Amino acid sequence: DPILLVENVRKSYGNRDILRGVSLAIRKGELKVLIGPSGAGKSTLLQCINFLVVPDQGQVWLEGRKVNFSRKRELYAYRQQVGMIFQDFNLFDHLTALDNVGIGLVHVKGMSKKAAGERAMAEIERVGLKAHAGHYPAQLSGGQKQRISIARALAMDPKVMLLDEPTSALDPELIGEVLAVIRDLVANGMTMLMATHQIGFSRAMADEIIFMENGEILEQGPPGKIFSSP
Ligand code: ADP
Ligand code: ADP
Repeated sequence: DPILLVENVRKSYGNRDILRGVSLAIRKGELKVLIGPSGAGKSTLLQCINFLVVPDQGQVWLEGRKVNFSRKRELYAYRQQVGMIFQDFNLFDHLTALDNVGIGLVHVKGMSKKAAGERAMAEIERVGLKAHAGHYPAQLSGGQKQRISIARALAMDPKVMLLDEPTSALDPELIGEVLAVIRDLVANGMTMLMATHQIGFSRAMADEIIFMENGEILEQGPPGKIFSSP
């Protein structure tokens, strides 16, 4: 049974169809990678799955339960379980790395400051940034900022993570450290759907590649099939 099931998602802006009925399923522990040209609709799809963009049509099922996005409480609970990683990190500039990771634990999960700080530190250690916990985003490299944003998502104990081109905003020499964190998550059984242009990583690590173009899935299958030269 899939942990996340996305059915027939459609989205238009004006008279432009951006998503033309996209369906996909992810099983527990799988990494599925969304590839396709810029403008294909990958980012819009990920945002529709988390209801950051409201789809015109379509359903999402998490662990066999249909998500009712119109119920605020259900939406917020869902977003804790389906974490999102953005290309541009989305960290609070006025908070340290530790507080960026811990703030949701206090305000969303209702943990005490002390417990939240301990949990946040554990997640920061997991992404290898213990020595940087007291730094502000401006004092971190792009790769470090992305690792902190991954730690923030992990702190919420997500069942699934959606990653929207997590290395695209990074200088080439910083991409590897973020891919290494993602590789460790794969190895530890995290379930993920990631849009990326990192073909080498996807070929090596993905269970399945989903190739999108023009708002549709054109092909999906194991990397060896999708990337095989004709
Ligand atoms: P990808 O992630 O594959 O590059 P996107 O989902 O970002 O694709 O974009 C798909 C198309 O939707 C693009 O042509 C983009 O210009 C358009 N688009 C995305 N967001 C909006 C918006 N808020 N208003 C109008 N058009 C949008
Ligand atoms: P670095 O130069 O820091 O090793 P890389 O981009 O080579 O940076 O990769 C960092 C980590 O990301 C690797 O240890 C590996 O786990 C993962 N990775 C990146 N590209 C690939 C790939 N093509 N196949 C498998 N793993 C990869």
